[in-house]
Amino acid sequence: MENKEIRGRFAPSPSGRMHLGNVWAMLAAWLSVRKQGGTMVLRMEDLDPSRSKQIFADQIIEDLAWLGLTYEEGPDCGGDYAPYVQDQRRHYYENALQQLKEQELLYPCYCSRKDLAAVRAPHRGENAGVYPGFCRGLSVGEQKIRAEKKNPGYRFLMPNREDCFLDLNYGEQCQQLQSETGDFILRRSDGIHAYQLAVVVDDALMEITEVVRGADLLSSTHRQRVLYETLGYTAPKFGHVPLLVGRDGRRMSKRFQSLDLGQLKSKGWKPEELWGLLLFESGMMGKKELVSLEEAIGIFSWETMKTEDLKIDLERLER
Ligand code: GLU
Repeated sequence: MENKEIRGRFAPSPSGRMHLGNVWAMLAAWLSVRKQGGTMVLRMEDLDPSRSKQIFADQIIEDLAWLGLTYEEGPDCGGDYAPYVQDQRRHYYENALQQLKEQELLYPCYCSRKDLAAVRAPHRGENAGVYPGFCRGLSVGEQKIRAEKKNPGYRFLMPNREDCFLDLNYGEQCQQLQSETGDFILRRSDGIHAYQLAVVVDDALMEITEVVRGADLLSSTHRQRVLYETLGYTAPKFGHVPLLVGRDGRRMSKRFQSLDLGQLKSKGWKPEELWGLLLFESGMMGKKELVSLEEAIGIFSWETMKTEDLKIDLERLER
């Protein structure tokens, strides 16, 4: 049954070939939307020109097609909310910055430490730490002096309060915004907009109603919710899925890279086997068996999904 009110999205960064962890997050996002008869959107998150490549964007589109993870709107098929490529949406991010500036919630920051990391989604364990507020109280005169030496980044003035929301998988999540996260970068000193800003502006303007993604972005959700509220948007629902780790419990994004979709395909893995493996490991299915996407829609459930990391036997994947 179609339900135009439900809108979900895939938001890959075209900085490499998809690995099993990316496939798992996309599968969950897709199944959740399809189960409700909603619309799926593909948006390329290619903000950082030093990391994003067109060839990876093309490959993501090919890989999604091979997997059968369909979408109604995206860079290759268009849609009412085009463009679906962040590089072409910078004016929207500038408008949002302007709005925050008018509310006096934005200040120039001349600190360079970790600044450059801000454009990427800060996956778990990569948090740059709470900003100590060095540039928060600079006078206009001081700002002028510093601006002669360096282009500033722009930071959001984080409110000093708690934010809580109900995650579809992890339940109630609360964060003290100032002491646990602090003021965060919205535009880097090289003019590139930060992930936290772009993802909110895009999900809001594309009228996304549910965001399903890896649990490494769970703590970012508070920052994003504050931006939704400040910019006058309604925040979507959020559902985070457990991360894939090796048998030793270590995150393996690097090791997974050597087991990207190209490798898995060349080792003979078929989508039905991958779905069976992922639904089994994530707790949604009692035994590992071949599963079609159609069947997976029936099986998908937030109630049975695990919250702890999913341990995957890499050797078995390498077969
Ligand atoms: N583009 C981000 C990434 O690939 C995902 C952002 C999101 O789903 O909010 O890590």
